[in-house]
Amino acid sequence: MKVIERGYEIFITGLVQGVGFRPFIYRLATSYGLTGEVVNRSDGVRVILRCDAETAGRFAAAIRSGAPAAAIVRSVEIRETEVREYSGFSIFPSHSIDETITEVSPDIAVCDDCLEDLVSDPGRVDYPFINCTNCGPRFTIIRALPYDRANTTMAPFEMCRRCAAEYGEMSDRRFHAQPIACNSCGPVFTLRAGTTVVTGIANISGFISERLAAGGSVAIKSVGGYNLMCDALNEEAVASLRKSKQRDMKPFAVMFRDIDALKQYCHAGEEEESMLLSWRRPILILRQKKPLASSVNNGLNTIGAMLPHMPVHHLLFRVIGTPAVVLTSGNLSEEPIIISDLAAMNDLMPVAGCVVSYNREINNRADDSVVRMAGENAILIRRSRGFAPQPVGVLPDAEGIFAAGAEQKNSFCIGKSRQALMSQYIGDIKNVATWDYYCETFRLFSSLFRFTPSLAVCDMHPDYLSGRFAGELAEESNLPLVKIQHHHAHAASVIAEHGLEGKVIGVIMDGTGYGTDGNIWGSEFLISTAADYERYTHFEYFMMPGGDAAVAEPWRMALSCLYSCFGSSYDFMSLRLFREIEEKRLIAVTEMLRQGINSPLTCGAGRIFDAVAALLHLCTTASFDSEAPMRLESAAGIDTDEYYPFSVNGTVRLSETFSAIAGDIARNDSGLVPARFHNTVAQIILEVCGAIRKDTGLDRVVLSGGVFQNRRLLEKSLYLLSMKGFRVYTNRQVPPNDGGIALGQLLAAAERRRICV
Ligand code: ZN
Ligand code: ZN
Ligand code: FE
Repeated sequence: MKVIERGYEIFITGLVQGVGFRPFIYRLATSYGLTGEVVNRSDGVRVILRCDAETAGRFAAAIRSGAPAAAIVRSVEIRETEVREYSGFSIFPSHSIDETITEVSPDIAVCDDCLEDLVSDPGRVDYPFINCTNCGPRFTIIRALPYDRANTTMAPFEMCRRCAAEYGEMSDRRFHAQPIACNSCGPVFTLRAGTTVVTGIANISGFISERLAAGGSVAIKSVGGYNLMCDALNEEAVASLRKSKQRDMKPFAVMFRDIDALKQYCHAGEEEESMLLSWRRPILILRQKKPLASSVNNGLNTIGAMLPHMPVHHLLFRVIGTPAVVLTSGNLSEEPIIISDLAAMNDLMPVAGCVVSYNREINNRADDSVVRMAGENAILIRRSRGFAPQPVGVLPDAEGIFAAGAEQKNSFCIGKSRQALMSQYIGDIKNVATWDYYCETFRLFSSLFRFTPSLAVCDMHPDYLSGRFAGELAEESNLPLVKIQHHHAHAASVIAEHGLEGKVIGVIMDGTGYGTDGNIWGSEFLISTAADYERYTHFEYFMMPGGDAAVAEPWRMALSCLYSCFGSSYDFMSLRLFREIEEKRLIAVTEMLRQGINSPLTCGAGRIFDAVAALLHLCTTASFDSEAPMRLESAAGIDTDEYYPFSVNGTVRLSETFSAIAGDIARNDSGLVPARFHNTVAQIILEVCGAIRKDTGLDRVVLSGGVFQNRRLLEKSLYLLSMKGFRVYTNRQVPPNDGGIALGQLLAAAERRRICV
C-alpha cells in the first residue's frame, strides 16, 4: 500500500545527462541517508526526496557545488511535493527516446580521480584506458541508443569480475561507466614500426620516447581518430613531418606536458587556462611567448595549444624528454582524419614509419576541437571532440528538420523536438573522401537519434554538394525543401544560440556566400529575424579576377581593389607587391579586370583582408584557407585607435581606405597598417549600426561570419558597439564560420514552418 507523505522535488536543468549525473545524485542521497528517486527527463533531471525543507535546501546546494566536472548546472529548483514511501534511493532508467537522446555525451577528458587511480588502483596501474562515470570516451564509441555498453565499441570486451562488480555497484565511481575496463579485461595498445611489434604500455612508451628523441614521428590512435606526433622543439623533425604529410604551411597543433610547460611557450589568460583545463580539452589558439620549432606555425604569432586528455598522453609525458609534441590530425591532406586501423597502416605508416593503435574501434570520428577566447567569450573555430553532439540553441519545434550546412568546414544539423543536434566537424565536402564522411555521418545521426526527416533545408548556392544532398533527400522522401541565404543563416545561428526574438541587426563579415543578386556576398548588414532578412547595406563590390584563383592568390584582390578604386592609370609599380609579380601574370590579370571577364563580383570582407595582407606583402599567395587574414591579424601587434577614412553612400565605399593604405605603404610606413585596418572595419561596423539604429530603433546586434574568427576584429567591434549602447551577441556554441551555418538554417526553417502553420 502506498503511503503519501510530504517531500521535495528538485529539478535540475543544464548539461546534466550522460555525464554521470544520476550516479552522482545517488551517491549524494546515500551520503545524506535519504530515500527517493532520480530520473532523467528530456528537459532535465528530476530528484524526489523524502526529507524536510532544510535538508532539501542543503541537498540542492550540494548538487551545485559537487556536480561532475562535465556537467553544467543551469538551474536548480526546489518545490514541495507529495511522495510515496521508498525503501531506499533508486535510479530510474529513461523511458522515451527523446530522453535517451540527451544522454549521448561528448567525449570527456580523463578526470583527476582516474589519474590518481592510474598510480594507485592495483588493477589499473598505468592502464591507458582508465575511465569512470565522470570521464572517458562517449560519442566516439556509441553505435546505437540507449547508451549501454552493448551498444558501444566496448561490446567485444567482456568485463572481468572486478570491473563487473564495480559496474553494478551504485555507490561506486564506475557504476554504469559503459567503457569501464582494467589491465586484465580492457583494450590494449600495440605499436608497429616496420616489422617490429611492441606490446605493453611501458615498452610502447619507451619506444615512442626514443623515437621522438631521435627526431622521428609516430602515428597514434586517439579518441576520435589518428594523430601524428613528433617533438615540437625539433625543427628537423617538424619540417620532415610537414613534408611527408604534404602540409605546406598550415600551423600544427601542439600538446604540452602540463599547464606549466604550456605557459612557458604561450600566453594564457585566466579564461584561456580554464578552457584548456576543462574536460573538453580543446586546442586553444594562444599568443606565442617563446618559439617552438619554427615549422610548427611558420611565422604566425599564435600556437594551437592543448593539454593531455587521454590517459595514454599522461603516461607518455612521464617518459618522453620534450615538454611539447606536435599532435596533428592523421590524414592525407584535406581528407578526413583516419579512424580505421587498416587505413592507418596503409596511409600513415609511410608518413610516420610507426603506428600505435589499440584494439577498440572508433565508431564516430571526432577531430580535436579548436577554440579561441576573446575575453570571456569562446570563439569556436572547429567544433568536434568534447562538444559534439551536445544540443545547441534555443529553438521552436524543429522536429524532423534536416539542415545540410554549407560546403567548407561543413557540419550539418538535425532537429529533435526543440533541440538542435549539430554533427561534429566534417570538413570541405568537395573532397571525395570528406563527401563520403558527410553521407555516412548523416546515416549515423539518422539511426543513432532515430531521425526521420520531414523538411530539408540548405544554402541557396546552386553548386553546393550539401544543397544537392538536401535536394535529393527531399525528392526521394517527398519533403519540402527550403533554401536559406548564406548570411541570413549566419545571423540566424546567433539568434538560435541566444533565443532572440523579433528583429535584430545582423553584421556578417564573411568570406563568400551566394547572394540573391547572383554576386558573392560577405560583408552584410542585415535587418534579420529568425525566419527572414532584409539587406540594409554592404561593402562595395570588387571583381575577383579568375574567380577562385583570386581566393588562392590574394595579390589578385589587391590589384582588383586598387584598379577599381583608382583605374588603370594608377601607379601600381610604386608598390613592392606588384614589382615582384611576374609581368606576364600582372598583365593577364589586369586585362581580366579591364574587360570584366572571368571576374565575378564579391563584397566578401575576407577578400578585403586578403587584399590588404597582399599589399603589405604578408601573403601574396595563400597556401591554406584564411592564411592572408591570419597573417594580417598576426601582424597587427601595435595598439592604436587610429583608423582609415571610408564613406557610406548606398554601400560602404573603400577607395579612401585603399588610398590611405597604399600611401602608408609607399611611404614605407606600413607598421601600423594592420592595426589601423582592423580598426577601420570595426569603425565601419559601428557607424553602419548607428545608422540602422537611427532608421529602425533596433539596438541588438548579432555578429557572425568567418571573419569574426579574427579576435582583434571581434574584440574591437564588441568594444565599440557596447560603448555606444548596443547589445551585442556572438556565436559561442557553434563556430561563426561555415561550421555554424546549419544551426541558422535549422532555426530559419523551423521558424518559417511555425509561422505558416
Ligand atoms: Zn574518471
Ligand atoms: Zn576489468
Ligand atoms: Fe560563411
